[in-house]
Amino acid sequence: MKPVHPDHTAPADAETRRAVAPVICYPVEGLPAPDLAPYRAARDGWTKVGETQVPAREARCFRVPAGHFFRITSVEGPQVGDLNLWNATNLAERFYSGKTRALHGTHLSSGDRMWSAHPYLRPMATITDDSLDWYGFDAFGGAVHDVIGTRCDPYTHNLLSHGGQYHHCCHSNLTRALADTTGLSLAEAEGHVHDVLNVFMCTGFTRDTGQYFMKASPVRVGDYLEFFAEIDLLGALSACPGGDCSAEHSSDAAACHPLLVEVFRPVAPPAGWVSPPVNGYDRSHGR
Ligand SMILES: [Zn+2]
Repeated sequence: MKPVHPDHTAPADAETRRAVAPVICYPVEGLPAPDLAPYRAARDGWTKVGETQVPAREARCFRVPAGHFFRITSVEGPQVGDLNLWNATNLAERFYSGKTRALHGTHLSSGDRMWSAHPYLRPMATITDDSLDWYGFDAFGGAVHDVIGTRCDPYTHNLLSHGGQYHHCCHSNLTRALADTTGLSLAEAEGHVHDVLNVFMCTGFTRDTGQYFMKASPVRVGDYLEFFAEIDLLGALSACPGGDCSAEHSSDAAACHPLLVEVFRPVAPPAGWVSPPVNGYDRSHGR
């Protein structure tokens, strides 16, 4: 983190340098922004075609065909979820948290998209509804549904707890779920687990030190985050051992609750929708 007492004195023009206005790295005008109206209209008369209960401190996989919707809902009590997405027929195409963050900002909501990794880099899912969109940014700089944290994992826990072994971090939960669904070994499955969308998690960076923080999620029973599958998806959702993340994770200390994933088939796809092709870069890299 940035030192409170730096080793080097500030130059004479320090304030002038600090005063330079920031430039948005990826102006959203350059993105093909989705029109949510056709997506939302397609929900009329939809049919629920599947549901998956994710037990507390566990993960489960689910499949969503392109053109279908899925919803993650808080049931029983406040709970955050760690979401991984893959192309259902190609695990190499997986959610790219870092580029999604660069494109949409630190926290996602309606109209934002979950982008896939290189060389695919296309929308995997579009967020079509968010019952917590009223939250915005709080006085601490916290907001909901982040792509800044990673997933709690037993390796970091081992480092910070001086040798601790804990097996229900989201990383391990997602690994077991993917192995169970695909038949891959745990070691093989682990390599496909990636940085997540932290569903319902309320996080930010401290203003003074830039440290990642979490606080009790504002999610309540019935709150949901809804997605439209742009391509055939395999998803995995972990009900984090942090519960609502008000205190700690990587232990069984926090109160935890299940999460519900529901899949809906619309009567017809959104008007004008076509499943996006993979990225158009020719991959010649200048040679
Ligand atoms: Zn977790």
